[in-house]
Formats: sequence, C-alpha cells, structure tokens
Amino acid sequence: MKKVILARLSLITPPGLRTDLLTSGMVRPEQVSAEDGKVLVPVNVPEDFAGDIAETQRLIEERLSGLEGVEKLLVVLTSERAAPPPPPEPPKLRKRPTEAPGRDMRPHSAAVPGVKTIVAVASGKGGVGKSTTSVNLALALRGLGLKVGLLDADIYGPSMPRLLDIHERPEIEDERIRPVEKYGLKVMSMGFLMEEDNPVIWRGPMVVTALMQMTREVDWGELDVMVLDMPPGTGDAQLTMAQQVPLQGAVIVSTPQDLALIDARKGLKMFKKVDVPIFGIVENMSTFICPHCGKPSDIFGRGGAEEDAKRLGVPFLGAIPLHMSIREHSDAGTPVVMSEPDSLHAKHYRDIALKVATRLFPEEDED
Ligand code: ADP
Repeated sequence: MKKVILARLSLITPPGLRTDLLTSGMVRPEQVSAEDGKVLVPVNVPEDFAGDIAETQRLIEERLSGLEGVEKLLVVLTSERAAPPPPPEPPKLRKRPTEAPGRDMRPHSAAVPGVKTIVAVASGKGGVGKSTTSVNLALALRGLGLKVGLLDADIYGPSMPRLLDIHERPEIEDERIRPVEKYGLKVMSMGFLMEEDNPVIWRGPMVVTALMQMTREVDWGELDVMVLDMPPGTGDAQLTMAQQVPLQGAVIVSTPQDLALIDARKGLKMFKKVDVPIFGIVENMSTFICPHCGKPSDIFGRGGAEEDAKRLGVPFLGAIPLHMSIREHSDAGTPVVMSEPDSLHAKHYRDIALKVATRLFPEEDED
C-alpha cells in the first residue's frame, strides 16, 4: 500500500518546481504512513519554496484519494527549519465594515459550523502556563454544563497530548478529522499528527492553513465554546490567528515575575488591533504554596497582574498559585480540575471559567 502511494507521489511535480515530491525531498518516505486505509502524508515545504503550495496539496489529494485501499487521507504541510521564520508581509488588519465595506478580513462566526463561541488563551511568551490554564479552563467550562472543544493551536510546541495524556491519532471519517475525546472535551492538537521529538517550525501561511484545517475541517459537532490554546507570543502567526478565527474574546495568561507585564501588554495590544475583546488577565504561578506545610509565600511579589490589569483597563480574572500538584497533574495528563475537583486550585479555575462564560453568553446570564 505504502509503495503504491510513494510511487504515485513520485509522479507529482509541484507546479512551479522541476523535480517531483520525493526527489525534491518534500515528501520523505519514512514520514508517510499508511495503515488500515488511513494515509498521512507530511509535506515538508522548503523555506524558499517557489511553487504553488495549495495546488500541490490539492494535486496530492487528487492523485491519492482515488487509490484503492485509501479510505482516509490527510495531507499535512510542514516546514522544518532551524531559524525563526522571516517576517511575512504585514497582514492586512480587519477594517470595520463601516470604514471599508466588503473588506472584513475575518470570517463570520458562522464560518465554523456548529461552534457557537471561540475564546483564545494567549500569552506574551512561553512557559507561563498558558496550556495548563487552557486545559483547566476548558474542563471548568465543561463543568458548567457547556459542550466544550479544545484546540491546541500551539503548532510550535503542542502540549495537549502531554497535558491530557492522549497518545492516539484522531480518526478521519468522510474526509473529516474527528477530535479525540477526553474527560468530556473534544480535543484537537497538531501534536496528534506530528511525531514526538520532531519539532516543526511553521511559516506564516502554513500556520493559517493548519489552523483552518483544525478549525473548519475537524468534525467538532455542536460546541458551546471552543477554547483555542494559541502559540505563545505576539508575532505574525498569532496575529494572523487572531484575525482569521472568529474570536469572541481572549484571555491573557501572565506570571507575576513579569511584573511590568511587558509581554502581556503586547498580547493585549495584538487583540485590540484586530478588535477582539479582552476578557481579562489570569495571573499564573502567583503565590507559592509549599507542598509540605501548605503555607503561601509570595516569591515574586504579589498583585502585579491585578494592578496592571486595573491600570490597563482590562478585567482581572484571577490568580492561580504556583503549586506542585498543579504541575504534577498537568504533566501527568490529569489536570487538577478533573483529578482534584474539590481542591482550591480547581475552584480558582472554576471562578475564572464562570467569568469567561458570563462574557461569552451575556444574554443568557441576564435571564
Ligand atoms: P505554556 O503553555 O505557557 O508554555 P505550560 O502550561 O506548558 O506553559 O506550563 C509550563 C510548565 O509549568 C508545565 O510543566 C506546567 O505543569 C507548569 N505549570 C503551569 N502552571 C502551573 C502552576 N500554577 N503551578 C505549578 N506549575 C505550573
């Protein structure tokens, strides 16, 4: 089966290129998998690729999908590079329809069928606990009786496979990817499609393609809310995401040592640029709670995020302490909201979820 697929791929020359997919190294035979009718073709797009990538993807799909034995086909665009991506053309920002009719760059909310609302969880930099917050927020929203999806858009370092202890690949049915279900959440992560320990760095346009696939080509079913775990930072990829996905609002995660919240400020600015309301700031790794004596210590000082939120005129959603059990549960794939629902930590996340839900569904709250 794989041989036939590779043979077919060797006959495809991407438009604009002289060599076929295998000779050019864009498709590496060892990365192609074909099992039980499920075929995954990662396409490594070189930095200086001069051809038409969308057309290349279409050609692969066209040539392979008709093959006998191919039931499900997934063509994933990747780019492995050591250097950070060059800044792409400055993206055109969404204009208010009143200013420029017909130039609204952002798809209408209805663009993700079945998904009522999407909330982004973002951070100015990595390692602040954005993904831990996303997953616990998603679980706490679920605890409010909402149908919740979790999209790990952190394609630079997807963490949902680890945080939710998911090792299976998503099923593909009728050419639609089915999210993996865990703890009552529908979860999709690029990490499910990538090999572990094989970091992939994406270029701007690919990020958009991947994100589009993950939001629109995934069979999310009916969701009240999709929690979108953004890649850390406020670069072009993040800006494009904030623009391209119909977001109801954004939650910014920050740590107290980042007292001046310089990075978090950039996050606020980015969402303001694209007219996405900021639901508020979560201060993560706030007070340190000693696992031995249970006493709190304010290692990094306290209240930085709260004061800054006030100064910046955005709501403060809450503070999550720096605690061993949050880290342990997070890294063991059993987030605290699920594994220790009666703990104070879980309560913190539930309080934040309630505030987020109130912003997401204001009219229902007024009843
Ligand atoms: P990010 O998504 O911002 O890169 P992660 O959610 O992956 O960050 O968290 C980074 C590390 O910090 C993980 O090991 C996680 O378990 C840990 N962590 C996150 N929040 C807390 C917390 N409140 N207390 C203790 N450890 C935490």
